[in-house]
Amino acid sequence: MENSTRVICGIAFHTLERDVMTPLVDCAIAVDSAGTIQSVTTPGDKNHDGILARAEADGTVFPVPEDCYLVPGLVDLHIHAPQWPQLGKALDAPLEDWLLKYTFPLEAKFSDRDYAFEVYDDLVATLLAQGTTTAVYFGSVDLEPNIILAEACLRHGQRAVIGKVAMDDPATCPDYYRDPSASDAIAQTRAFIDAVAALQKGGEPLVHAAITPRFVPSCTDDLLHGLGALAQQTGAHVQTHCAESDWEVAYVRDRLGKTDTEALKDFGLLTDKTILAHSNFVTRSDMSLLAKTGSSIAHCPLSNAYFANAVLPVTRALEHGIKVGLGTDISGGFSPSLFDTARYALTASRCACAGTNPDQLAAERGTNETPLTTTEVFWLATKGGGEAAALPVGAFEKGMQFDAIAVQAGHATSGFRCSDADTMQDIFEKLVLNANAAAIAKVWVAGETIETTSKQGR
Ligand SMILES: [Zn+2]
Repeated sequence: MENSTRVICGIAFHTLERDVMTPLVDCAIAVDSAGTIQSVTTPGDKNHDGILARAEADGTVFPVPEDCYLVPGLVDLHIHAPQWPQLGKALDAPLEDWLLKYTFPLEAKFSDRDYAFEVYDDLVATLLAQGTTTAVYFGSVDLEPNIILAEACLRHGQRAVIGKVAMDDPATCPDYYRDPSASDAIAQTRAFIDAVAALQKGGEPLVHAAITPRFVPSCTDDLLHGLGALAQQTGAHVQTHCAESDWEVAYVRDRLGKTDTEALKDFGLLTDKTILAHSNFVTRSDMSLLAKTGSSIAHCPLSNAYFANAVLPVTRALEHGIKVGLGTDISGGFSPSLFDTARYALTASRCACAGTNPDQLAAERGTNETPLTTTEVFWLATKGGGEAAALPVGAFEKGMQFDAIAVQAGHATSGFRCSDADTMQDIFEKLVLNANAAAIAKVWVAGETIETTSKQGR
């Protein structure tokens, strides 16, 4: 059955527009053997009864379990895979201590193959169980562990974009954890792109390689130029950090005399497949530049509360026409859940827009911009994230990949229950704001049912 066309039925929610939730009541989603959605119909649509009747005759109708609601799988745009073992640790430390004392030594440990295998297997399984069907990962500096991560994604069936981290500047990177030279980092990045391509089996690729300079301060100009040229040559994804903190903004301005965004553009690193983590301090002119290049922002609200002391003005970025999605920023934030991240995005937006200093008058306290809504943060976690990652996921539309989760209400650990008085919008909002990992009854990626348990043991 796994390789045939099938029809998944039930109540589904998705957001084709960022502020409009569309309920699909008693819908039938026909998915082909490549995981591509062939049709989405509801009762009353012309072909609905025929599609269901044919699938019933073939035994290929799969109703979602009772009390379950189908939503697109969640897209996490920013994860540091090797930081998974320190999730929730030392978040009160200043950034420099956090990097030098905890993070770089931990990332360096992944040159041990067995350690990388064990941790990455657990990470990918955990994220799938949280409903993250697409994950955009920073790996580590050594090539090999990043291939182990790509293999873990393929083994578990998680869609992913993965980067070998490039960082070569001896002035900012420790000797024990950096690329020996710009040319070496570029060659290893190219080797990783080739290695990921060699892992694919054909059809819509499940795993993609990304060119991944850690951020401007950890890379020499030669490396940034070389990676920019590689991005133009290969058309591969690009990911990096941009304008996360006051320190980063000041560092780049001192060194290069321009904003972080302008520098990345001049190095050739802003493409329509570039994902920029954070970008809290991008100027309005930077925003126009990002809209023009088609580059996207991974908004990481929880991490930003710790390490950036800032809140990205998401609505302003969206109104500039920039693609935006969400990132957990494991382990800059403490939660692996994109549902949690959506809730923090909502809370952070409300605080930033209204302001929080009681010594100021209400009208002067905040940015006075429009805060995000529940529908909008769900859009960021699904359709917005899919667009930002340049992948055909995030909504139930013909031609997209069927990546989905079934969220179950009303059992002891679901985190929410529904009543007859609830409208579809009410149920949707309860799901977005309350559902936890235990409520995720089923996960699909590329039309395949995913087992959300560890697959360790080689
Ligand atoms: Zn990061």
